[in-house]
Amino acid sequence: MTIYNLGSINIDHVYRLAALPRAGETLGSLDLRLGLGGKGANQSVAAARAGADVVHLGAMGTGDDWVLARLAAAGVDTRAIARLPEVATGHAIILVDPGGENSIILHGGANRALPENLLTQELAAIGPGAILLLQNETSLQPEAAAQAKAAGARVIYSAAPFEIAPLRAVLPHISILAVNEIEARDTFAAFGEDLPIDGMLITRGAAGAEYRDLRGGPARLQPAFQVRAEDTTGAGDCFAGWFAAGLSRGEDIATALRHAAAAAALQVTRKGAGDAMPGRDEVMTFLK
Ligand code: ATP
Repeated sequence: MTIYNLGSINIDHVYRLAALPRAGETLGSLDLRLGLGGKGANQSVAAARAGADVVHLGAMGTGDDWVLARLAAAGVDTRAIARLPEVATGHAIILVDPGGENSIILHGGANRALPENLLTQELAAIGPGAILLLQNETSLQPEAAAQAKAAGARVIYSAAPFEIAPLRAVLPHISILAVNEIEARDTFAAFGEDLPIDGMLITRGAAGAEYRDLRGGPARLQPAFQVRAEDTTGAGDCFAGWFAAGLSRGEDIATALRHAAAAAALQVTRKGAGDAMPGRDEVMTFLK
C-alpha cells in the first residue's frame, strides 16, 4: 500500500570555515557542499529505497530542480510537490569549523507554506491500508492527520523537532508516534504514559530501538547492529522510513524493526543524511 509523506524538503548548505564568525565579522568560506535534507525528504528517500511506493506531499520554491531529480532517482513520486513562486525552498545554512563545531540557521520557507490543495487533491486518494507519514517541519500537520485517520489510513508521526503544541494537535489522529529517547521522555512528561495511540516507536541510538504496543500487545525490542559509525545524521529518519515501508508491505512489527535497524546501521557508516540511505538489496545482503 502507498505511503503518503507530508514532509519537509530542505537544501543543506554546508560551509567549511577557518572559524565560526563572530558578530559583525565577515569570513570567506573554504568550501561549500549542497545536500538534500529535511526530515520529510530523508524519510521519503529511506522508504522508497526500502522498496515502498512513496508519494511525497510538500512544497519548494521555484528552481532547485536537482532536488526533485534526486528524490525521483531514489524512487519517490514527486508529482505532489508544489512549486511556490516568491517563497524560498526550505534550507539549512550549516557553518562548520575545523574542529567540527557547527552553527546552523534553519529557514522553513515553503515547508511552512504548504498549499491546501495538497489535502483536497493529492491526499484525497488516501484510504484504508495506506500510511500517512508526518514530521514536525511543515504546516498542515493536524489537518492532514485528521483527514487520513477519517479515511481509515494509519498515521505515523515523527515528533521532531520536538514541540508540545503541534504534538498535542496531532495526537488524537495518529496511530504510531516515532521518537528518540529524549523525545519519548518529553512526551511522557507532557501527556503521561497512557497515550491515545496504537504504539510508540522509540529509537535509542547505538542502544537500539523498541516498539511499545499501547493496546496491550507485547513490547518488541530491537538491538542495534554493531558498526563503526561515521555520521549518525538522519539515522532516525532512516529508521522511520524503513519501518513505515515494512508496515506498508504488511510485515509484522518484529520484521519491520529488524530491517529498519539494519538499514540505519548501514546509514550511519556513511556521511550525509538523505543521500546516505541504503537500498533494499544492500540491507538484505547485510542481514545474510
Ligand atoms: P537523528 O536525529 O540523527 O536522525 P535520532 O535521535 O532520531 O537521530 P537515533 O535513536 O540516534 O535517532 O538512531 C535511530 C536508529 O539508528 C537506532 O535505533 C539504531 O537502530 C540506529 N543507530 C543509530 N546510531 C547507531 C550506531 N552508532 N550504530 C548502529 N546503529 C545505530
